[in-house]
Amino acid sequence: MPTTRTAVITGSSSGIGHGIAEGLAAAGYNIVLNGIEPAEQIEPARKALEDAHGIKAIYSPANMLKPDGVRSLITAAEAAFGQVDVLVNNAGIQFVSPIEDFPDEKWEAILSLNLSASFYATKAVVAGMKARNWGRIINIASAHGLVASPFKSAYVAAKHGIVGLTKTVALEVAEHGVTVNAICPGYVWTPLVEKQIPDTARARGMTEEQVIRDVLLAAQPNKKFATVEELAALAVFLCSDGAASITGTALPVDGGWTAH
Ligand code: NAD
Repeated sequence: MPTTRTAVITGSSSGIGHGIAEGLAAAGYNIVLNGIEPAEQIEPARKALEDAHGIKAIYSPANMLKPDGVRSLITAAEAAFGQVDVLVNNAGIQFVSPIEDFPDEKWEAILSLNLSASFYATKAVVAGMKARNWGRIINIASAHGLVASPFKSAYVAAKHGIVGLTKTVALEVAEHGVTVNAICPGYVWTPLVEKQIPDTARARGMTEEQVIRDVLLAAQPNKKFATVEELAALAVFLCSDGAASITGTALPVDGGWTAH
């Protein structure tokens, strides 16, 4: 790499985003962490990244639900590091309910965070990437960007939307050394998955143990949760020169779920 490159990972105070931040820090990128938690809470994790990997890391609690929040995250990254070379659109939330009871505000929030935030962040970084003739945009979609499950209308709609956004932007920037890909994880054991188990149990009339066995792992032919480390490894590969021709794809990491 010519100089240290900078990666912005939305929603990286926890779960998959934090794992990807770790992976990119280990690969030598300066890191912009983001999440809804106060800075004091994330300070130990931020410092640990710097100490372990000899890179610089900052944390911004910018709210990805709002276009101004998204823009302020990119502005903070550029103020700290001059430019954004890698953007990982990862922040996301889930809500599980039959559509007739699905709260309007949950629909709006899921579409804003899981889809629109990626549009605003991409829009803010793409000109700089094109001008430098190098960039990587990675959208964390889901197996639910490729197939559906009941009771997740907003999430499945947003994740299918982000696969479409990925393909569109990939075509627009293909001649400029910028790749745009979606990663489509199956179930990964993170707070997002843990929190949806009681609601899924209620919506399906099951116990929580049945949800884990008969809904979550039943979807994955290998009967295992995918791991944040596996997702980080793929993100790091997509940022490498070896992945320069991979663009516009939606790559499943789902133990075979979407092969069904
Ligand atoms: P998580 O709940 O562990 O982490 C979510 C992150 O998003 C946290 O850092 C949180 O602070 C941040 N966040 C939430 N609201 C925010 C806001 N308004 N502004 C900024 N940041 C905000 O979730 P996770 O499981 O790591 O999920 C990360 C992404 O991966 C999501 O897009 C999710 O849809 C996707 N995904 C997860 C799974 C899974 O099984 N866990 C599977 C497929 C896709």
